[in-house]
Amino acid sequence: MRYYELLQDPDQAVVQKQLIGLLTDHCPQVLEDLRQEADEIRHRSVGDTVHVRGIIEFSNYCIRSCRYCGLNRGNNQVQRYRIPPDEIVKTAREAAAMGLKTIVLQSGDDFYYTREVIADMVREIKKTGVAVTLSVGERPRDDYRAWREAGADRYLLKFETSDAGLYEALHPGTRLDIRLRCLEDLRDLGYQVGSGFMIGLPGQTPEILAGDLMLMRSLVLEMAGVGPFIPHPGTPLGQDSAGEVNLALKILALSRLLLPWAHLPATTALSSLEKDGRRLGLTGGANVLMPNITPPEYRRLYEIYPHKAEVKDSSRELYQATLELIKELGREVALDPGHGLSPATRLMLREEL
Ligand code: SF4
Repeated sequence: MRYYELLQDPDQAVVQKQLIGLLTDHCPQVLEDLRQEADEIRHRSVGDTVHVRGIIEFSNYCIRSCRYCGLNRGNNQVQRYRIPPDEIVKTAREAAAMGLKTIVLQSGDDFYYTREVIADMVREIKKTGVAVTLSVGERPRDDYRAWREAGADRYLLKFETSDAGLYEALHPGTRLDIRLRCLEDLRDLGYQVGSGFMIGLPGQTPEILAGDLMLMRSLVLEMAGVGPFIPHPGTPLGQDSAGEVNLALKILALSRLLLPWAHLPATTALSSLEKDGRRLGLTGGANVLMPNITPPEYRRLYEIYPHKAEVKDSSRELYQATLELIKELGREVALDPGHGLSPATRLMLREEL
């Protein structure tokens, strides 16, 4: 376990240096070795099952102006939609009946869905027995509390970059410390917390990326998502280059080595840039797939970035294709909801690996 051990050094500055060294080493063999090691750590820590989480993108309205995102409020080329709450619940019920164990409700930062409306949806969906993950952005702590009390299990909120200056440049009108405080609130309230960052952002350096990985580790996340930046023509970064697939794969592998216990998805962004992305993700550290079960008439409109994968097929077809891929790889679909591992189990894992 060569790289895993290198990254366990108690001195954070040493780990940071190792990460920068690995991120700037473009030797294909290094990438292959990291991917193999991540796959082995994944097998020994979270096992061979793959968790399938169905994602419903229920609103593409957003009050924010993130410079990389096609849904930013200033993009008037987007056809906006909001799925009515009863249709969201119906979609979740159908997904639960298909066999999905987790439903992810995602939207832009859209306050049209009030604290109460989201709490009611969570309560209804929880009656089907699935785990519920929310991903609806920065909201007041009392909203997070109400949704947790309604039964929400998990929350996804990416920090996107650990560099405060770059964060502010990309997210006009807000700050990294506000986002980190939201993550702390979520942790305090007992959510299983997911976060992560983008790879290949304009202005990002290997030092910043190493800092992103270190921050992800220090947040002790239950779920971590890392995916390549994909420029959207309707944004100020529309002319920039996309993140590199190989760098994204390397960072996914490093994420597994740094957070052996975490649930790591093979992201849609990766499969949007590289048609074999989900397979490459699952064989290089990932253990989660998130098929898009948004009703197809809305799905293509949730365009954070262009040429997004999974916009055409029906939810059932996408779910079946996901199951087939898992089978092809000799893995199994997880039959449990895939909650985060307890702190005691994580500690034991660290000693065993
Ligand atoms: S990244 Fe999220 S918060 Fe930012 S504009 Fe897009 S949907 Fe809104």
